[in-house]
Amino acid sequence: MSFDWKQYELDHIGIAVKSIEDALPFYRAMGWHNFATEVVPTEKVKVAFVKLKNQSNIELLEPTSTDSVIHKFIEKRGAGIHHICLRVQQIETLLGELKKQGVRLIDDRPRPGAHNCKVAFVHPSATGGVLIELSEPQAGAHI
Ligand code: ZN
Repeated sequence: MSFDWKQYELDHIGIAVKSIEDALPFYRAMGWHNFATEVVPTEKVKVAFVKLKNQSNIELLEPTSTDSVIHKFIEKRGAGIHHICLRVQQIETLLGELKKQGVRLIDDRPRPGAHNCKVAFVHPSATGGVLIELSEPQAGAHI
Protein backbone atom coordinates (compact mmCIF):
# COMPACT_ATOMS: atom_id res chain seq x y z
CA MET A 1 0.00 0.00 0.00
CA SER A 2 1.37 3.40 -0.84
CA PHE A 3 0.05 6.75 0.21
CA ASP A 4 -0.45 9.81 -1.90
CA TRP A 5 0.67 13.10 -0.39
CA LYS A 6 -1.91 14.86 -2.57
CA GLN A 7 -4.69 13.59 -0.31
CA TYR A 8 -3.31 15.42 2.74
CA GLU A 9 -4.59 18.80 3.84
CA LEU A 10 -3.69 21.15 6.66
CA ASP A 11 -6.51 20.62 9.12
CA HIS A 12 -5.41 22.94 11.90
CA ILE A 13 -2.58 24.45 13.87
CA GLY A 14 -2.94 23.86 17.60
CA ILE A 15 -1.94 26.68 19.93
CA ALA A 16 -1.64 26.02 23.66
CA VAL A 17 -3.11 28.89 25.68
CA LYS A 18 -3.68 29.43 29.38
CA SER A 19 -7.10 30.86 28.67
CA ILE A 20 -9.12 30.79 25.46
CA GLU A 21 -11.05 33.83 26.64
CA ASP A 22 -7.83 35.83 27.06
CA ALA A 23 -6.68 34.86 23.56
CA LEU A 24 -9.90 35.85 21.83
CA PRO A 25 -9.61 39.66 21.59
CA PHE A 26 -7.12 39.34 18.72
CA TYR A 27 -9.35 36.93 16.82
CA ARG A 28 -12.42 39.09 17.49
CA ALA A 29 -10.54 42.15 16.25
CA MET A 30 -9.76 40.21 13.06
CA GLY A 31 -13.50 39.75 12.53
CA TRP A 32 -14.24 36.31 13.92
CA HIS A 33 -17.21 36.22 16.24
CA ASN A 34 -18.47 32.68 16.45
CA PHE A 35 -16.10 30.16 17.90
CA ALA A 36 -17.04 26.53 18.07
CA THR A 37 -15.80 25.34 21.45
CA GLU A 38 -15.68 21.80 22.63
CA VAL A 39 -14.34 19.96 25.67
CA VAL A 40 -12.29 16.88 24.83
CA PRO A 41 -12.39 14.91 28.09
CA THR A 42 -9.83 12.31 26.99
CA GLU A 43 -7.26 15.10 26.49
CA LYS A 44 -8.41 17.26 29.41
CA VAL A 45 -8.66 20.30 27.19
CA LYS A 46 -11.19 22.81 26.04
CA VAL A 47 -10.73 23.74 22.40
CA ALA A 48 -11.96 26.64 20.31
CA PHE A 49 -11.78 26.48 16.54
CA VAL A 50 -11.09 29.59 14.52
CA LYS A 51 -12.16 28.68 11.01
CA LEU A 52 -10.26 29.84 7.94
CA LYS A 53 -11.53 30.14 4.40
CA ASN A 54 -9.47 27.23 3.10
CA GLN A 55 -11.06 24.74 5.49
CA SER A 56 -8.21 24.80 7.94
CA ASN A 57 -8.46 26.12 11.46
CA ILE A 58 -6.53 27.56 14.30
CA GLU A 59 -7.26 25.42 17.36
CA LEU A 60 -6.84 27.12 20.70
CA LEU A 61 -6.20 24.57 23.43
CA GLU A 62 -6.85 25.42 27.06
CA PRO A 63 -6.09 22.86 29.76
CA THR A 64 -9.06 21.87 31.94
CA SER A 65 -6.87 20.17 34.53
CA THR A 66 -3.32 20.43 35.86
CA ASP A 67 -2.59 16.90 34.66
CA SER A 68 -3.52 17.81 31.08
CA VAL A 69 -0.62 17.50 28.60
CA ILE A 70 -1.41 21.05 27.52
CA HIS A 71 -0.98 22.30 31.08
CA LYS A 72 2.39 20.52 31.26
CA PHE A 73 3.40 21.93 27.88
CA ILE A 74 2.63 25.50 28.98
CA GLU A 75 4.48 25.00 32.27
CA LYS A 76 7.54 23.75 30.45
CA ARG A 77 7.65 25.85 27.28
CA GLY A 78 5.10 28.60 27.68
CA ALA A 79 2.03 29.19 25.55
CA GLY A 80 2.52 28.81 21.80
CA ILE A 81 2.30 26.43 18.88
CA HIS A 82 1.72 22.96 20.24
CA HIS A 83 1.07 20.89 17.14
CA ILE A 84 0.19 20.88 13.46
CA CYS A 85 -2.62 18.64 12.28
CA LEU A 86 -2.84 17.00 8.88
CA ARG A 87 -6.14 15.65 7.60
CA VAL A 88 -5.65 12.12 6.28
CA GLN A 89 -7.64 9.12 5.17
CA GLN A 90 -7.36 5.48 6.23
CA ILE A 91 -5.56 6.45 9.39
CA GLU A 92 -5.17 2.89 10.72
CA THR A 93 -3.47 1.74 7.53
CA LEU A 94 -1.33 4.87 7.41
CA LEU A 95 -0.15 4.35 11.01
CA GLY A 96 0.74 0.76 10.18
CA GLU A 97 2.77 1.95 7.20
CA LEU A 98 4.57 4.64 9.21
CA LYS A 99 5.40 2.11 11.91
CA LYS A 100 6.71 -0.31 9.31
CA GLN A 101 9.00 2.43 8.02
CA GLY A 102 10.38 3.08 11.49
CA VAL A 103 8.65 6.41 12.12
CA ARG A 104 8.41 7.09 15.86
CA LEU A 105 4.74 7.38 16.77
CA ILE A 106 3.12 8.47 20.00
CA ASP A 107 -0.06 6.57 19.11
CA ASP A 108 0.04 3.21 17.36
CA ARG A 109 -3.71 3.34 17.09
CA PRO A 110 -6.04 6.28 16.59
CA ARG A 111 -7.93 7.75 19.53
CA PRO A 112 -11.02 9.96 19.61
CA GLY A 113 -10.34 13.65 18.99
CA ALA A 114 -12.48 16.77 18.64
CA HIS A 115 -15.43 16.59 16.20
CA ASN A 116 -15.43 12.76 16.52
CA CYS A 117 -12.32 12.59 14.39
CA LYS A 118 -9.89 9.72 14.75
CA VAL A 119 -6.51 11.16 15.66
CA ALA A 120 -2.97 9.95 16.32
CA PHE A 121 0.23 11.81 17.10
CA VAL A 122 3.65 11.41 15.53
CA HIS A 123 6.63 12.09 17.80
CA PRO A 124 8.40 15.44 17.21
CA SER A 125 11.75 13.62 16.93
CA ALA A 126 10.48 12.09 13.68
CA THR A 127 9.07 15.24 12.11
CA GLY A 128 11.69 17.94 12.47
CA GLY A 129 10.78 19.03 15.98
CA VAL A 130 7.03 19.67 15.83
CA LEU A 131 4.35 17.40 17.19
CA ILE A 132 2.21 16.30 14.25
CA GLU A 133 -1.36 15.15 14.65
CA LEU A 134 -2.93 12.99 11.96
CA SER A 135 -6.69 13.24 11.83
CA GLU A 136 -9.27 11.33 9.88
CA PRO A 137 -12.63 13.05 9.81
CA GLN A 138 -15.66 11.05 10.86
CA ALA A 139 -17.23 9.45 7.77
CA GLY A 140 -19.62 11.89 6.14
CA ALA A 141 -18.77 14.69 8.55
CA HIS A 142 -18.75 18.27 7.39
CA ILE A 143 -15.38 19.75 8.10
ZN1 ZN B 1 -5.35 19.31 17.22
